[in-house]
Amino acid sequence: MSFTVTTPIYYVNGAPHLGHAYTTIAADVLARHHRQRGEDVFFLTGTDEHGEPVALAAEKLGVTPQELADTNAERFKALAPLLDASNDFFIRTTDPEHKAGVQAILQTVKDNGYVELGRYEGWYCPRCADFKNENEVEDGDKCAIHHIVLTRESEENWFFKLSAFQERLEALYAEQPEFVLPRERRNEALAFIEGGLQDVSLSRGAKLQWGVQVPWDPEHVFYVWFDAPIEYIGATEEWAEANGTTWRDWWRLDEGAANPENPVRYVQFMGKDNVAFHTVSFPATILGSGEPWKTVDTLKAFNWLNWYGGKFSTSQKRGVFMDQALEILPADYWRWHLTAYGPEGSDAAFTWEQFQSTTNKDLADVLGNFVNRILKFTETRFEGVVPAGGVDGHEGWLVHGADRVPVPRVSGGHVDFYAAVGRWILDGGPVPVDPEDAVRTAQVLEAAVVSAREGRVVRLD
Ligand SMILES: [Zn+2]
Repeated sequence: MSFTVTTPIYYVNGAPHLGHAYTTIAADVLARHHRQRGEDVFFLTGTDEHGEPVALAAEKLGVTPQELADTNAERFKALAPLLDASNDFFIRTTDPEHKAGVQAILQTVKDNGYVELGRYEGWYCPRCADFKNENEVEDGDKCAIHHIVLTRESEENWFFKLSAFQERLEALYAEQPEFVLPRERRNEALAFIEGGLQDVSLSRGAKLQWGVQVPWDPEHVFYVWFDAPIEYIGATEEWAEANGTTWRDWWRLDEGAANPENPVRYVQFMGKDNVAFHTVSFPATILGSGEPWKTVDTLKAFNWLNWYGGKFSTSQKRGVFMDQALEILPADYWRWHLTAYGPEGSDAAFTWEQFQSTTNKDLADVLGNFVNRILKFTETRFEGVVPAGGVDGHEGWLVHGADRVPVPRVSGGHVDFYAAVGRWILDGGPVPVDPEDAVRTAQVLEAAVVSAREGRVVRLD
């Protein structure tokens, strides 16, 4: 099995905060898990740099969009190793390889008859970098997400004939029941498709020049939402070239990605607010290219990590930004907390109080005691040598549900495991095995040591 996992491709109008760290660490846990299983893994992260929000933020700061993108992309790139993320590659949408890839794929979509010139008239939110339907507008003229007054736009655009893909998208959702997770996000996307798809703007005209140039009309740039998702393909190409390997067997169904002996499984992580483009417009674009590109198997939408009930904000300096966070405590603390307590079923707020209490309880009390006890037990019962209890080959993983649902949740099970084994070693109860049984005792101790060392729970029969 070959496995690809991608973090959200982070937008560079602000600095990386804990929310970005959360999705990077989650993807890292999943990537490490699949490597432990012996699979070929390609783990990608990177930045999305075009579009109006970056252009506007740069203007405010008195720098060019490229300068702002360079500064912030560097911060995101530096963050991954500081978090101990094991990503294979970091891509930027301003890389020339990416631009060429976008132009080639979208040219094919046009050649196939799915692009035409039209005039867009309606509401536009510069913070979302998105046009708004009437049902996405509040108080008559405000963005329902940003609560700012929308601008009324009228401009000539290239349009993508999204309406031509309704049936094919419905078929895709029927064939892949786990195309989008969690289920409520899938239902939302499917309801949007079934509600009737309208053609959408593919380009921006004279008002915005910060983007990938439309090859057949150099006055226009592609709308950022069409440029960014193609990055996943371009990144694999750049990575493969740098490593003397091939990229087409990851992405082309006709060149290995669908090989029954070694199929590629592709999981994409993203914030829940970005789901619509990745689950509707992007798969339609790929269908429109008429080429056998591999599409995502499961897109996992993440709820928001907030800051004491509100959103993180670079401009308002609300939240914990990663340069501060890593000065306060090293990466392992953040990795633990975000993986075990990051928002799952709904949005959740980071608070220092919860961070302090869970870190003390889980790491100092449970894990610390666990390691202490197994070391002491090894000394007193086995003269300091870990017994070969025969746990090799016993599977059992710390990441729950990773086979079916790509949620790298580690809370619960292994803390219980550490606590139970720790208690058994300390006082003989609750007793998972008969302490008089020497073979079983050796097995459990070895399993405990392997668990502490490799970060996986060895499940004994
Ligand atoms: Zn908005």
